[in-house]
Amino acid sequence: MQTNKRINGIIIGLAGLILLILVGLVFYMFQGTTSASQAAQAQAAVDSLFTDESHNYLNPEYSKEKLATTQKQIKKVGFLDRSNYQSQVQQAEKLYQGLSDLDQVFEGNQIKDRGVAIPKLADLAVKVGVDQALLEQQSQNLEGIAQTGTGQDLKSLYQDVTNLIDAKAGVMEQVKALPEINDDFDSLSQAAQAVANFSDTYANYLKQGLYKDVQDQLNQYGQKVGQMIVEYPTALDQNPNLLDLLKNTPSLALGLKDSQYEKHLQVSLTFDDGPNDEFTPQLLDVMNKYGVKGTFFLMGAYVDEYPEMTKRIVDEGHYLGNHTYNHFDLHDLTDEEVKTQFEWTNMAIEEATGTRPKMYRMPFGGGGERVYNLMADSGMESILWNLDSLDWKTQDRDMIVEEVMNDLQEHSLILMHDTNQATVDAIDILIPKLQEMGYEFVSPLDIDFELRYFPE
Ligand SMILES: [Zn+2]
Repeated sequence: MQTNKRINGIIIGLAGLILLILVGLVFYMFQGTTSASQAAQAQAAVDSLFTDESHNYLNPEYSKEKLATTQKQIKKVGFLDRSNYQSQVQQAEKLYQGLSDLDQVFEGNQIKDRGVAIPKLADLAVKVGVDQALLEQQSQNLEGIAQTGTGQDLKSLYQDVTNLIDAKAGVMEQVKALPEINDDFDSLSQAAQAVANFSDTYANYLKQGLYKDVQDQLNQYGQKVGQMIVEYPTALDQNPNLLDLLKNTPSLALGLKDSQYEKHLQVSLTFDDGPNDEFTPQLLDVMNKYGVKGTFFLMGAYVDEYPEMTKRIVDEGHYLGNHTYNHFDLHDLTDEEVKTQFEWTNMAIEEATGTRPKMYRMPFGGGGERVYNLMADSGMESILWNLDSLDWKTQDRDMIVEEVMNDLQEHSLILMHDTNQATVDAIDILIPKLQEMGYEFVSPLDIDFELRYFPE
């Protein structure tokens, strides 16, 4: 009986084991393998996380919800096949994490979308003065890439950002390495030179927001150096070059504030070849908006055509100049003809406004000493310029603005023309910029710059 019982026990145990194996087999057949339709659904769910079949680009609509839905689909797949789908999902999660991390580099700006990321990066690169050609090449490489990046692209984006940050850290180190400030004239002069060199070398960087703390550091240092130099009696009077250096280096110029050497910024806006009824009124409107006065060098022929526009210029407080009647090249005219060109114009202006202009400008700036001498008794002053906006040539708003800003001096007499829309648009940008910089808008007769004729 004992033996039978034991045998029974073994049989029951074996049966249980066989049952377990059978159940396991059934489970394996139903759960471990995957039907074709389950596989297709799971793959579709995984694919929906990307924009391309090779899974190089993350779907911009990738989200935690979308991820959860995909995970659900994968769970329906036989467990033996799951890891394949799981690893594809992990690829998506990695890409997402990478892009999110990059977002943080850009202080939370949304750059997951590739279309946003590249201009942002380009923008940042321009700000820190990265080579334009390189940047263009980079944009071309990225052209045609879907909204989000591949791991490879990400890597290079990271590298770019890292480089930008490293570059800035390097510049910051440079500014902190400026010589220690000692209160003796020679070392102060050397420190001033060091500031000027630094500003020169890093001019492109310092303009930009990313480098603001570098600029702050430089300003602090430069202001102190400037102030200490000003405190040396007569030092600047005896060192005009050093004074120029201080005036022309913004951070050093901070130290001149409230001293007798403080920079006195002046600008004269002059517009030739009008008046007309299209651009002249627009220019007047823009200048009125900012409350500044400009000078119009008028052609007599157009004054006769637009006497009311001529009167409006005077009525609104602007200055008038004589730019001859027909704008001939004065080299081609006899002495008598030159005088007639100016006299006819004065008559036209007087008829339209009741006043005679106090200035004249030679067409094309040409005529030289001969014309200057011919006009010596006219009671008018010859006015030329030290800054050609090239508006007549470029006829492009941004190029005009750039030309003026690049050539700007302490006393800038600017040549422009009220004959094209780009000038009007540029003036609308330039006036507030100049005002912000502290420029005073003056008549060419009051500016601290004199050029009566170009040597010929
Ligand atoms: Zn002209």
